[in-house]
This record gives sequence, structure tokens and C-alpha cells, in this order.
Amino acid sequence: MNTRDEVLAQAADELRPPPAPDGTGVISSWDLSVGVDGPGSRFVVFTCGCPLRCLYCQNPETWRMRDGRRVTVDEVMAEIGKYRRFIEVAGGGVTVSGGEPLLQPRFTAELLRRCKDAGLHTALDTSGFLGDRADDALLADTDLVLLDIKSGDPEAYRALTGRDLEPTLRFARRLADLGKRTWVRFVLVPGLTDAPEHVDAVARFVAGLGNVEHVDVLPFHRMAAEKYGRLGLTFPLADVRPPGPDLTARVRAQFAVRGVTAI
Ligand code: SF4
Repeated sequence: MNTRDEVLAQAADELRPPPAPDGTGVISSWDLSVGVDGPGSRFVVFTCGCPLRCLYCQNPETWRMRDGRRVTVDEVMAEIGKYRRFIEVAGGGVTVSGGEPLLQPRFTAELLRRCKDAGLHTALDTSGFLGDRADDALLADTDLVLLDIKSGDPEAYRALTGRDLEPTLRFARRLADLGKRTWVRFVLVPGLTDAPEHVDAVARFVAGLGNVEHVDVLPFHRMAAEKYGRLGLTFPLADVRPPGPDLTARVRAQFAVRGVTAI
């Protein structure tokens, strides 16, 4: 099972998750990170299930909900409690990532609320494709949104992810209307996301929002290739080289020209 059409058909199945008992969700894993999933030291929960199939995805093990583990919010909170001292270093907190956390909006909302109640900083890492599933309460319990805008061109976005760009842009505008603190993530892939006019489309869009603190320009890498092999999948970008420093600098400069801080 590995043609692009088959992979995308599998992604469509994820939009119809099985009914879940209250207070539970399906996760792939949790991990600790510093500096990449929000400010400070983070406890990162990787939820399972994603309706996109990005060609550069580094977490294919999170694609299908059926491959994950059902947990209760209480279990996750107990685990978070063990690392509280670590995650509070340098203004850290908890990041709900994936997969796509908004595929399980009730679980994600409850987890974020419980973290807020516990006095922890919260971040939501999302493609925004299912932004309509995030109600206002969920967003009120989210201190920071890490929003992937994978291309500024609808056709390139669809080729890259298998999905439409517009829901992500709609979610970004809603976050702007709410004044929600947001970091945008943009993965730079030579030949796929580096076209100057497509980068400029992202830069112009972000510049018009007013709530985005910065854009993370993340150079594509191939570290997940081995993981794909273990899962019996073909890594579609195995032959694509990571961007060189000149290309990365050019793209960051394109954001800067529009008045957007890019790091
Ligand atoms: S949205 Fe994230 S988890 Fe889903 S396929 Fe894309 S990169 Fe992977």
C-alpha cells in the first residue's frame, strides 16, 4: 500500500474516527523537547490520526488512529505531573501535537483545559485543516498556536498534502480576529515549497494577520526515511536534498521584506 492515491485514500478514512469514550483519546507517544515545540522546555503529546499526507512528513507513525494507543486525560496529566519541574524551565509548558490534534477535538480540548487549570502554558501544533473543529473554549485554553502553512499556492499545497489550503487560511484569519498568539511554521523543501512567488504568498498573507510573532522556516531533512522503511512505506522525498544555506537565507529574507520576522 504505497501509491500516492492509496495513501490519500487512507487519509480520508481518518476523517471518520470511531466514537470515543469521554475523557479518552488516541495518542502515538509523548516526549520532551526544548526550543522547537513552543517556548522553553515542553512536554509534547503526539496524538494519532491525520487527514493530511504531507510528502515530507516526519511522523508517519501518527497517521492512522488505529495504530495508536487509547489513553485517558487523567493518564496524560499524571505523566505530565512527573515532569513538571522540567517543563517549567524557561517558561515551558505542554504542546499538543500529532498527527492532527483537532481530529480529536474533545480530547484535545479537555487536555488543554486541564493543563491550563494546572497553571501550565499550553500550545497547539496544527495544520489548521480542521480548524473549524476547534471551538472558542478550546482556543481560550490555548496560549499559543503553532500553525503550519505549508505553501501559499493552493495547487502546490494540494500536491504536497493531498488537501485544500483554504481551511488553514480561514483558521489563521480566525486566530487573527481573536488576537491569538501564533507562530507559523513553514517547511522549506527544494523544488516543492521554494518557488519565490509561493513563498511570497505566505509572507504577504502572514504580514496581513497581525497576530503572528514569527515564522519558523524549517529546512527539510530526511531523518525520517528509516522510519518509513520500518513501517513498510516509501519515503517520497528520499532523493530530495535539504536546502542549502543560500536558499534558506533567501526565503527568510522574503519574509523579512514583508515585515515578517523569520527565524
Ligand atoms: S499534517 Fe503533520 S502529521 Fe499530518 S501528514 Fe502533514 S506533517 Fe505529517
